Amino acid sequence: MQLESVVRPAEFDVLRIREDFPILNEKIHGKPLVYLDNAATTQKPLPVIDALRDYYLHHNANVHRAIHVLAERATEGYEKARQAVAEFIKARSERQIIFTRGTTEAINLVASAWGRKFVRAGDEIMLTEMEHHSNLVPWQILAQEVGAVLRFIPFTEEGILDVRRFETLLSGRTRIIALSHMSNVFGTINPIKRIIRMAHDRGIPVLLDGAQSVPHLPIDVDFLDCDFLAFSSHKMLGPTGIGVLYAKDHLLENMNPYQGGGEMISTVWLENSTWNEIPHKFEAGTPNIEAAFGFHAALDYLQSIGMKRVTLYEQELTTYALNRMKQVEGLNIYGDAPERGGVISFNIEGLHPHDLAQFLDQHGIAIRAGHHCAQPIMRKLNIAATARASFYLYNTFEEIDYFVDSLRKARVFFL
Ligand code: PLP
Repeated sequence: MQLESVVRPAEFDVLRIREDFPILNEKIHGKPLVYLDNAATTQKPLPVIDALRDYYLHHNANVHRAIHVLAERATEGYEKARQAVAEFIKARSERQIIFTRGTTEAINLVASAWGRKFVRAGDEIMLTEMEHHSNLVPWQILAQEVGAVLRFIPFTEEGILDVRRFETLLSGRTRIIALSHMSNVFGTINPIKRIIRMAHDRGIPVLLDGAQSVPHLPIDVDFLDCDFLAFSSHKMLGPTGIGVLYAKDHLLENMNPYQGGGEMISTVWLENSTWNEIPHKFEAGTPNIEAAFGFHAALDYLQSIGMKRVTLYEQELTTYALNRMKQVEGLNIYGDAPERGGVISFNIEGLHPHDLAQFLDQHGIAIRAGHHCAQPIMRKLNIAATARASFYLYNTFEEIDYFVDSLRKARVFFL
């Protein structure tokens, strides 16, 4: 792997960071692993792996139930993880943080618990054409159930939302706007501040799908003023099976529960029940306790580096990758937004993305090929699939050189 001349962001010691990720030393088909599938899920640093082990060695018990020492330790750790999440996204209170299985469940929670109560027949739900299926299908289910209408903010050829069209689509019946903060196909960072302001001027709440933004950008929910924010631990160095719904207190207070069962109740009679305080009202059953411990460790790890530095480093990597990829003959990149993150979808003319992904895998490089859970985007672009490379804080400029050289080799091999 040869490093071309490049300016590295000062004080970002990527080689030191890589030492914390043992999996990066794996050999794949005899080659060093180059992991460029971070939009799907990220690798885990030692502190996260240690936190999971430590939980089972020293703290394992159910939460919020018993008064023995282990139960107190488990409950304290679980609630400290909630506080860490609140601090990470600058929420006013940990009451606003609900643990879910991930982004998908967080959005389903809102569509179900908020939507069924507040969306009526003929009301409109505003989405965009660039949503992940997770921010599309739950709203389709709700709309079909209550007779609501879905509206879509279109995207341009560059993979940018048409905000002027958004304004004309708003109506007196728009009940909620739900959109991705950052696209998992184009990498576009949407102008959410502007969209939220325009929505709030008309009293409409906004849900942000933060699956791709929270892991990569400093987030301040108070500044953004979003009403709901959904994201997943596994895309930000934490374990799978846990994620977050942030919501403003008054919304949570007024929503019905999502699921019924233990923990979410205050009193239970044979015929009816009363609900626990928020956020517990939305956490029925035993939660993913060990994942909360691991997630806390992941948040601490990211904080210790600093999210601004993570963003800056990834921006440098992405600009470098885009410039180098554009020099590969026949390579088309989907999305050209000025404000973007480290997700690059592309195709090489005449080469199927699955063949390309398989070829790269033989060279130790993990990318994604497919529709990226965004079939409507593929349909609008008139393609079946794309290849996608996505970066995180442990990727290097050398890896990008090796990746781009391997793309060239793939062209020679197949075409
Ligand atoms: N939204 C976006 C933009 C995503 O990229 C993803 C995952 O790829 C999701 C939602 C779903 O996340 P999860 O599978 O962790 O629930």
